[in-house]
Amino acid sequence: MKNILKFLALVLLVLAAVLLINTYRTTSRQMSGLDTALMINISDTAVFNLSAAIQFRTVSNADPTMIDSAQFEKFIDFIAVTYPLVHANLNFERVNSYALLYEWKGKNTSLKPALLMGHYDVVPVIQGTERLWEHKPFDGEIAQGYVYGRGALDDKTTVMGVLEAVEHLLKTGYKPERSLYLAFGHDEEVLGKYGGKEIASILKKRNVALEYVLDEGGMIKQDGVEGLNKPIAMIGIAEKGYVTLRLTATGEGGHSSMPPPQTSIGDLAEAIDRLQKNPFPARLEGAAGYMLDYLAPEMPFTTKLAMSNRWLFSSAIIGSMEKTNSGNATVRTTTAPTILDAGLKENVLPIDATAKINFRILPGDSVAGVINYVKKVIKNDSIQVEVVGESGTDPSFVSDTASVSFKLIHSTVKRCFPDVMVAPYLVVGATDSRYFKDLSLNIYRFMPVRFTDEDLKRFHGTNERISTEDFKNVVRFYVELIKSE
Ligand SMILES: [Zn+2]
Repeated sequence: MKNILKFLALVLLVLAAVLLINTYRTTSRQMSGLDTALMINISDTAVFNLSAAIQFRTVSNADPTMIDSAQFEKFIDFIAVTYPLVHANLNFERVNSYALLYEWKGKNTSLKPALLMGHYDVVPVIQGTERLWEHKPFDGEIAQGYVYGRGALDDKTTVMGVLEAVEHLLKTGYKPERSLYLAFGHDEEVLGKYGGKEIASILKKRNVALEYVLDEGGMIKQDGVEGLNKPIAMIGIAEKGYVTLRLTATGEGGHSSMPPPQTSIGDLAEAIDRLQKNPFPARLEGAAGYMLDYLAPEMPFTTKLAMSNRWLFSSAIIGSMEKTNSGNATVRTTTAPTILDAGLKENVLPIDATAKINFRILPGDSVAGVINYVKKVIKNDSIQVEVVGESGTDPSFVSDTASVSFKLIHSTVKRCFPDVMVAPYLVVGATDSRYFKDLSLNIYRFMPVRFTDEDLKRFHGTNERISTEDFKNVVRFYVELIKSE
């Protein structure tokens, strides 16, 4: 007995030692000792230009014939006039009429070019919400230190910020070492088939290999995360895939006065219920794991200990992340029923009942894997499962955090925003950058703007805005980034 106790004590001691050693070996991944970037003077003209850009109603539509093409033409004319040096010094081409591709030839043609991208199309303002805007969505009003309007965050800030930065650098006579492409889509909000996708395929045909791609996606989370109350620049190193499945249950129909025990609506409801009660398995590998690697060393001791010993605590960490919708979306493929359709008359049993369910697919899973999983979980062969629209999009690969380009973005963040720490993360939405997967292994998604949880609601929402100082910092960030490569 004594020996057993002794043995147990030894096991516990060894376990404690392993946990502590792993914890102490978890050292900060933050780059340090960097010079703070000089505060470049960005005039108010940059802010006025953003305000003007918002006033073009470049609302995209899944049906390209439905857009107000005059607004897109006027926007393109506007940037040509506003950024004369960009248009005089860079090669410029229009792709599928409205997507914009610029090439700034670098001095050293042996270096792979980089590509900065964004999109200038915007989502519409939902009818009935116009009156909730403090300043009209397409007036680009500047008030209380903010520029208001649709696109102020998503994503005219990126497009105008990059153009301002390049114009600024050209004014100072700067010429980059590495060639730089600028790529601005016009239909990102409706899947980017004619803009981002076409630009990527043109570059691929020209055999361009890119050092890195930087698109929208991540941001500076001003509130930090639970346990770490400081601003964190979340740099997207991967993004989730996307597929919508249509589930169709078929019944016999007939009069509702003599219903059979199983109806199509009942079958469909049961299938949806099973899917919601059996979520996809959660994982901490990939982008989520890299994020924890960066967050762990900055955390209070117990959290640090758990995050540094994921071999033992992964289910506890997953359990805590699952509690928030955003945390849950980071660790698993998500299931979201979005549209239901069945029945026409209250006393008639419908024959078909259909549901559309949107899945956001974790890197490592796939569209095909989602379909298999759904069929397995609903356990009802009579329910038809099919992909809505085109084939869906598989998740991206996970870009490396050890690459020179990730370090470039990391150090530029630190130099421009010394109070901010850096962490890689998984983008749960979709960006046009997914089309560039054959052009570079280093695809990052980050917009250098500070956001609180409150601000996030303004994305695609009401009272979208950016502070004038934040916009000037966006320009400064791109100037530093371009100069640092
Ligand atoms: Zn966007």
